[in-house]
Amino acid sequence: MNIWEGKKINSGVAIGKAKILKKADNLVKRISIDDADAEKQRYDAAKEKAIEQLMALYDKAVKEVGEVNAQIFEVHSMMLEDDDYNDSVYNIIESQMVNAEYAVATTGDNFSDMFANMEDEYFKARAADVKDISERVVNILAGVDTGDDMGDEPVIIFAEDLAPSETVQMDKSKLLGFVTHLGSANSHTAILARTMGIPALIGIEADDSWNGKTAILDGYSGRLIIDPDEDTLKEYEAKRQKDLEYKELLLSLKGKENVTQSGQKINIYANIGKVSDVAAVLDNDAGGIGLFRSEFLYLEKDTFPTEEEQFNAYRQVAENMAGKKVIIRTLDIGADKQVDYFNLGKEDNPALGYRAIRICLTQPDIFKTQLRALFRASYHGNIAIMYPMIISVDEVRKIKKIAEEVKAELISEGFKIGNVEQGIMIETPAAAVISDLLAKEVDFFSIGTNDLTQYTLAIDRQNSKLDEFYDSHHEAVLRLIEMVVKNAHKEGIWAGICGELGADTTLTERFLEMGLDELSVSPARVLAVRKAVRDTK
Ligand code: PEP
Ligand code: MG
Repeated sequence: MNIWEGKKINSGVAIGKAKILKKADNLVKRISIDDADAEKQRYDAAKEKAIEQLMALYDKAVKEVGEVNAQIFEVHSMMLEDDDYNDSVYNIIESQMVNAEYAVATTGDNFSDMFANMEDEYFKARAADVKDISERVVNILAGVDTGDDMGDEPVIIFAEDLAPSETVQMDKSKLLGFVTHLGSANSHTAILARTMGIPALIGIEADDSWNGKTAILDGYSGRLIIDPDEDTLKEYEAKRQKDLEYKELLLSLKGKENVTQSGQKINIYANIGKVSDVAAVLDNDAGGIGLFRSEFLYLEKDTFPTEEEQFNAYRQVAENMAGKKVIIRTLDIGADKQVDYFNLGKEDNPALGYRAIRICLTQPDIFKTQLRALFRASYHGNIAIMYPMIISVDEVRKIKKIAEEVKAELISEGFKIGNVEQGIMIETPAAAVISDLLAKEVDFFSIGTNDLTQYTLAIDRQNSKLDEFYDSHHEAVLRLIEMVVKNAHKEGIWAGICGELGADTTLTERFLEMGLDELSVSPARVLAVRKAVRDTK
C-alpha cells in the first residue's frame, strides 16, 4: 500500500481501478515537404474539421454541464481562428518547408509556453487550452481518433494534465475521479470537475506501474492510496458510502425552499471572486450572489482594469444569473491584497491601514471608473452594490454623493441604468455599534464576519500563530451580529452575512433566531446550509 498527498480540487471519495492516460506525443515527426500550398490546405481542412468537432462538443457540454461551462469550447474554436496562431502555422510550413503536423505542434508549444510564463493566473490557465486545440488538429491531420475509449469498468483517471475537452468527453458513468500531475485550481478542467461533481486531485505524478491497480482518491483530505490493504479498503468503502448518501441528500435539496419546519425563510446566496464562478453558483442552486469580490479583477492584472473590461465582467455575471440578485462589492484592495500598480507603499499595520473604501474615497478616479462600470452593467440584470470597510455615516454620505454624480453623468451621456440597491458591509466594530445610524442611509447590510472577528478580537486574521485565539463563535461577535440585524430591521432594511461564518451550520439555528435575512456562502456550501435551515424546527 502506498500513500500520496495531492492538492484538493473537488471533494468526495472514489475507489476503483487506476487508468493512466497517455497522450500520443510521439505522433509528430518533422517531415520535409515540396508543396507548401498543399500543406497549408491540409491544415485548413483539418482546422475546419476541428472547429466542427468543437461545436459538437459545445452542444454536448451545454446539455451535460450547462451553457457557462460549455463556453470554453466556443473559446477553443475562436482560438483556432486567431490570426496570430494561423500565421504562425503558415509561416513554419513556408519558411521551413515542413509538414502541417509539425507546424501545428510547434505553434501549440510556443503559444502554450508564452501563456504559461505570464503572471496573470487567467492566462496561465490558457496554456492547457492552446495545447488542447493544437493536439486536436494534429490528431485530425494524422488520422487519429480523439475519442477516448474508457472500457467498460468505471475507473479513476490519471494524467499528466487534462484538457477541458478531454474531461467533458469522458463518459461520466465510467469516470470515478481523476488525478493529474499538472493543472491549476483555476483551470477550466478543475471547474468542470466541480461542476460534474467528480472527486479530483492535482499535483500527483502517476507511475506507469499503477495502471490497473486499485486506487482510493480522498478528495476531502487530498490523499491518494494505491493498492490499499483490506482494512483501509473497508474503511474507505464505508466513507464513500456515507459520502454518497450525504451528496444524494444534498442534491435532492436542489429546487427546494430555504425554509425551517416552522415556516421561517432565509435567502441563501453564494460568494464569488471571478466571472467563471457563476457556473458553480447556478449548479448549487444558490438564490443569488451575495458577494462578488471585485478586487480579483484588479489582482489578475498588471494595470487598472478599464471601465469597459469591468463592465463586461459585471454584465456577464448579471446576465448569467438571469434576474437573480448579484451583489458586487467595490474594490477591497490593501492589507493582504496587494497590487503593485496601486503603489500602496509599506505600512506598519496594513490591516488597519490604507485599504478598501479609504483608497476609493481618496482616489475618486479609480472609484468612479468602477462605479460607472457597475451602474452601466446594472441595466443588464439585477445588480446591487456594496461598500467595504465602512466606519462612519460621513463616509457613506460621501459615497452616495459620488454615486449620484456618476449616475447623473451616465444618464447625460445616454446610458440606461437599472434600479440599484446600495448597501454596506458591516465588518468593523465601529460600523456595528453605529448600525442604527447607518441603517438610515443604505438599502441593506452585509456582515463581513472575517474582518469583524479580526477587528473585534484584535487578532490579525493572517497570523497563523493566533489561530487558536481567533474564536469565530466569540460571544462579542455574535452579539454584534444580533445588534446589527435588530438595527437593520428597525429601519426596514435587510441584513445578511457574507463572511465565512455564514456557512457554519452549527450556527444556522442561532442566525435564524437572530432574524438574518440572508446567508452568502461559497457555492459548494449552499446545499449544506439549506439542509441545516430545513432541519431547524
Ligand atoms: C469579510 O471580511 O468577512 C468579508 C466577507 O470580506 P473579505 O473576506 O474579502 O475581507
Ligand atoms: Mg472583509
